[in-house]
Amino acid sequence: MAGRKAKPEEESPVALKRRARKIGRVLGETYPYAVAELDFGNAFELLVATVLSAQTTDVRVNLTTPALFERYPDARAMSEAQELELQEIIRPTGFYRAKANSLLALSRRLVDEFDGEVPGRLEDLVTLPGVGRKTANVVLGNAFGVPGITVDTHFGRLSRRFRWTASEDPVTVEREVGALFERKDWTMLSHQVIFHGRRICHAKKPACGVCPVAALCPSFGEGEVDPMKAAKLLKYELAPGREELVELMRAGRTRAELREAGYGLGA
Ligand code: SF4
Repeated sequence: MAGRKAKPEEESPVALKRRARKIGRVLGETYPYAVAELDFGNAFELLVATVLSAQTTDVRVNLTTPALFERYPDARAMSEAQELELQEIIRPTGFYRAKANSLLALSRRLVDEFDGEVPGRLEDLVTLPGVGRKTANVVLGNAFGVPGITVDTHFGRLSRRFRWTASEDPVTVEREVGALFERKDWTMLSHQVIFHGRRICHAKKPACGVCPVAALCPSFGEGEVDPMKAAKLLKYELAPGREELVELMRAGRTRAELREAGYGLGA
């Protein structure tokens, strides 16, 4: 898809907001099925899966968590885990000693301070060991239905490529991008931007030549612009089991219906 380079240096705040929302709409049409790619059944599972997802892929975490939650179904059970056994179960996700420490400290704090439940407020979540704003927003947005912007590596990179922000600081990115969109759209926007970053707008070689937002993107041309060559750069990998979910969403099943049918879509 050919792109015309937008000129953000001439852009007023109103024009920036309009362009940002157009990009949001195109991403929404492109990835209507965007969801958190971590499997989870409740807030505790999502919190643990998000901690485990540091420095590894969601696919790998999803392969590891069924056994983990079978063994430790809640914060109370995990807080009493034998450290070596816990390490062994989560070993495939890498950095397993540090992650086991985090999970133990986290679940003990949940038991001691929050009666074993995951709190539903940002200011409480960020006091938990190993939980920063990014993890807290993932949990709030997906397990509690509280709108949140998740600034991970993809979201930060794409926000700068879109010139939604110039900042490298995640809190500033969250604030500046949040001001461009309606609050109710924050969680879905986060999923859609992250999907776009994983599949098309890669860190090293974005596939600009086949990008659906090329005409709205000031960074068009940073990657491969030849459509044939760009098409070869696309990545569509989905976590196991997600293909079926995507097909059902494409066929018009609502998120509420799918949640009811047992898919871990969160709130
Ligand atoms: S792939 Fe290229 S055109 Fe598309 S969003 Fe990324 S930098 Fe912009």
